Amino acid sequence: MIVGIDLGTTNSLIGWMSPSGPELIPNVLGELLTPSAVGVDHGGELVVGAGAKSLQVTHPERCAAVFKRSMGTETRLTLAGRVFSPEELSSLVLRSLRQDAERHLNQTIEEAVITVPAYFNDIQRKATVRAGELAGFRVRRIINEPTAAAIAYGLHETTAERIAVVYDLGGGTFDVSVMDQFEGVLEVKASAGEVFLGGEDFTRALAGKILSSKGHSFEQMEARYPRLVARLLYECENAKRRLSTQETASIRLPDAEGVIHEKCENVTVSVSEFAELTAPLIHRSRLPLQRALSDAGIRPSQVHEVILVGGATRMPQVRSMLEVVFGKPPRMSLNPDHVVAIGAAVQAALVSRDGSVSEIVVTDVAPFTLGVEVSHEFQGHYRSGYFLPLISRNTPVPVSRSEILSTIRANQTVIQLKIYQGESRRVEDNVRIGELSVNGIPSGPPGQSISVRFTYDQNGILEVDAMVQETGAKFSTVILQGTASLTSEQIRTALEKMQSLKFHPRDKEENRYILLTADRLYRELPPRFRDILGSLVLEFEDSLESQDPARIEESRSQLQQFMKNVDPGSGPDSESWNWS
Ligand code: AMP
Repeated sequence: MIVGIDLGTTNSLIGWMSPSGPELIPNVLGELLTPSAVGVDHGGELVVGAGAKSLQVTHPERCAAVFKRSMGTETRLTLAGRVFSPEELSSLVLRSLRQDAERHLNQTIEEAVITVPAYFNDIQRKATVRAGELAGFRVRRIINEPTAAAIAYGLHETTAERIAVVYDLGGGTFDVSVMDQFEGVLEVKASAGEVFLGGEDFTRALAGKILSSKGHSFEQMEARYPRLVARLLYECENAKRRLSTQETASIRLPDAEGVIHEKCENVTVSVSEFAELTAPLIHRSRLPLQRALSDAGIRPSQVHEVILVGGATRMPQVRSMLEVVFGKPPRMSLNPDHVVAIGAAVQAALVSRDGSVSEIVVTDVAPFTLGVEVSHEFQGHYRSGYFLPLISRNTPVPVSRSEILSTIRANQTVIQLKIYQGESRRVEDNVRIGELSVNGIPSGPPGQSISVRFTYDQNGILEVDAMVQETGAKFSTVILQGTASLTSEQIRTALEKMQSLKFHPRDKEENRYILLTADRLYRELPPRFRDILGSLVLEFEDSLESQDPARIEESRSQLQQFMKNVDPGSGPDSESWNWS
């Protein structure tokens, strides 16, 4: 059994190929979307998913979200005094998805196909593989999100050749791919995107506008009143979603502690105001769109269909912009939050050679140009820092390319190959992804030849081999910043670290989610409701201590019912923060 996973910036999903087709698996709370958020509660235990999101509203310093944006970087996040890498945080999300799938399918799951943005570089892809390994998976395949979406839409099933554009605006990343489909073949002709553009930016733009209209800067307020800003973002997120279907939305402004009261000021935003405010973000998505089309050599009028992926494509301004560019409305017949995971589940079945899935040939492209640093001769002396491209961006993968390099000094016995990816002529403007030391070159005059081969595999992972031509000595020990796969020793050490963390028992996750949400609600309620909520929570906590299932069930359902009924908007006035 191989599962398919969409490891998203905001939400993650897991799916499998059931006998009746691809199916998404609900988490312990019964939801298909698990927020990609991790927190550490007051008892020092880890919380993943919706519980972490609730905790984030009340205790942002104990939580982390949108860490997918930092995958493969040196960024470290501290949660309640504990330091985590983005890979470790992602592995915690993957681990919780895996447990949900194991519970749902009643079997151990060890293998997965995980999706990444097409625009992810080599380091980010390897970091994703590592996150999977830390979560106990053997990562069988990394596939690009737009490719997965196209598979979910069954684009490969068409008989006539068609060109599709997949426009994927998620929570934090933007991807666009131009795909060519015909009789079982799905070819990514070009892809482009931005790792720092997504629905969250629209939410922040709205919150920033509200703060600036009151004479405050977002950054200053975030540093001084983190709870106020966390709650304002939460309100703006809801308003943004309402604006996808309504003409106006009102936003209540929280106090310094992030609490919303009955007499809190209300701000009303209209669809057109929101569209105007976020027009620069929509414009930013047009640039990669144009680049992908021009790299693929396709004019907008040649595109047969435009597919929308990612929750943020529900915003009407996205659809209108695409309709203007392509002269036809985009397609969104599948839920844009589910398509990537569904495609990953189909791909997982293909990897496991499930007979129920017809063969699809998926060809992808290298998202960046890959090459090495070389020196050029100027008037008898050499200057380094030049980029020699070996695999151009948007070359279909898997691909292998070779080049002959020469020594530049007499008796030069070592060449240090510095490997870069990027589009600039000078290496300092590109991203350094690794190094390979080639030694044992025979002493002699300059011009000794070394053949260098770059192999970019189906997962978008690079391997570099070098051979000294005269001796035939081979060097393939690629010293990349992140290796494709961890050694078993590294996995053991990393797993030991993860195992030292306290996990909350999964079967009790729902109870904790309820308690964290009650905590958030408690701050927002007027005294008369607070007292009721307080006693219901105490009763629930006491029933948990008693371990009596019938009592737990009863007090839980009373608490849930109450939380559903109360309106968090009504409450006393705040004195701690004055918006005017
Ligand atoms: P994803 O990473 O695909 O789950 O995308 C989540 C993003 O989609 C978040 O930024 C959400 O705010 C955004 N989103 C979800 N639903 C809506 C909606 N109805 N209108 C606008 N944005 C939405």
